[in-house]
Amino acid sequence: MLMTPKEYIESLRKLKTRVYMFGEKIDNWVDNPIIRPSINSVAMTYALALDPKYEDTMTATSMFTGDKINRFTHIHQSAEDLVKKVKMQRLLGQKTAACFQRCVGMDAFNAVYSTTYEIDAKYKTHYHENFRKFLIMVQQHDLTVDGAMTDPKGDRSKAPHEQKDPDMFVHVVERRPDGIVVCGAKAHQTGSINSHWHIFMPTIAMKKEDADWALSFACPTDAEGLYMIYGRQSCDTRKLEDCPIDLGNAKFGGQEALVVLDHVFIPNEYIFMNGEYEFAGMLVERFAGYHRQSYGGCKVGVGDVLIGAAALAAEYNGVEKASHIKDKLIEMTHLNETLYSCGIACSCEGCPTKAGNYQIDLLLANVCKQNVTRFPYEIVRLAEDIAGGLMVTMPSEKDFHSDLPVAKDGSTIGEICNKYFAARDDIPTEDRERILRFLENMCLGAAAVGYRTESLHGAGSPQAQRIMIARQGNIEAKKEMAKEIAGITHISDTEKKS
Ligand SMILES: Cc1cc2nc3c(=O)[nH]c(=O)nc-3n(C[C@H](O)[C@H](O)[C@H](O)COP(=O)(O)OP(=O)(O)OC[C@H]3O[C@@H](n4cnc5c(N)ncnc54)[C@H](O)[C@@H]3O)c2cc1C
Repeated sequence: MLMTPKEYIESLRKLKTRVYMFGEKIDNWVDNPIIRPSINSVAMTYALALDPKYEDTMTATSMFTGDKINRFTHIHQSAEDLVKKVKMQRLLGQKTAACFQRCVGMDAFNAVYSTTYEIDAKYKTHYHENFRKFLIMVQQHDLTVDGAMTDPKGDRSKAPHEQKDPDMFVHVVERRPDGIVVCGAKAHQTGSINSHWHIFMPTIAMKKEDADWALSFACPTDAEGLYMIYGRQSCDTRKLEDCPIDLGNAKFGGQEALVVLDHVFIPNEYIFMNGEYEFAGMLVERFAGYHRQSYGGCKVGVGDVLIGAAALAAEYNGVEKASHIKDKLIEMTHLNETLYSCGIACSCEGCPTKAGNYQIDLLLANVCKQNVTRFPYEIVRLAEDIAGGLMVTMPSEKDFHSDLPVAKDGSTIGEICNKYFAARDDIPTEDRERILRFLENMCLGAAAVGYRTESLHGAGSPQAQRIMIARQGNIEAKKEMAKEIAGITHISDTEKKS
């Protein structure tokens, strides 16, 4: 059953989610002005799924029940499904200009689905069946699930078992006949507070000594012992000022939090990995692969809106016909569409896993994300170039509306602001104010968390992709191609050793 946006928001109120922000417990977090825009972004994933115009993109057929489900809860059945996923993400980026948070869960579903199948094949465990039942419940209730991978990690040079504080990675502290008790935390969790459930996964490949840290399981967001500490964003307290124009994007936003597990009990039926350390790397690689594909959709949709905003700023300034402005918009479009091409390419080249669901081409997905670590920065630089300095020096909305006389002729602060910040005659100054604030929000305000730094570190920092590109790039095969055409038959000592 598909939930309406209203039902989704009401469903959050029914949870006993524990949220802390600015050193205080936030009881009515659903209506909190700092948190609410992020809830609106997730609600859009529900709204579009009910819009007949987007039905094909936003919904799918459950492989388990045959029911119509939100694509965010789908197990990809074909390369076409993978392509539709990217299109859905671009659409949502266009509709929210923010992170809509539901991708991490979808990417976790698909990675856990195939990994549990392979663990069971080796150990005769029942993780795949556990996961299947869990996912049917998610699909039937149209739930939002956080994909929780990144541990705090402590000293990065040390493995989980080598850390001074074992909680630096989520781990088992007690094994019971009916389940496990876990401790630790996950950092930077996108949309965690707005999720009904969490799927926890390991964050790195592990060795035998790390077996107690090699865990995957599902847990309700309001489970006993689980709480969140809200991550603040640039300019977040502007949301408390009742100045919607100053927010740039008053409706939508992203969300990250520290999720803490303080002796949380996980019943056996929700466990998907429990000590099978040699599969930790597989799960990480698969989740990261899907998530790196995701960025070829979501960031592109946000990029579309950013390019549109830059074009409007140019028009409002009266420079839209200048050749360098046109060229900068072309460059921004070229970069944005290159990201999309990578997202589509790694989807089209997708192939089935042993479990039968479709996985992206790992090399192309990593190339996609590597580009995402760079191109949005250049797109933002060009947007700031086009916008002009006013996007960071403009007085507040309150000044634009102020009746306080300030000039010798009795003009108010508002009139002075509207006089000096006017540009083209036919454009209301308020429209210019709005679009420049919008650009500020996306380039270096709250939305920049999702568009810039998440582009860099989300789904793994740039070096993580380079390691995968090195692994998947098959340099040996390329050397053979060169040798064959160049007529080289000799095998060097290096080649003999490799
Ligand atoms: C906005 C945002 C949203 C996110 N959402 C989610 C989410 O929903 N779910 C989730 O699980 N995660 C999420 N993440 C986490 C993301 O995956 C991590 O930020 C990323 O993996 C990098 O980890 P880190 O931030 O701990 O940085 P670090 O690991 O500290 O990396 C910092 C630098 O150190 C380097 N480095 C780290 N370790 C080593 C090492 N051992 N050897 C050499 N160099 C090293 C890195 O390459 C990088 O250059 C999100 C992150 C952001 C910024």
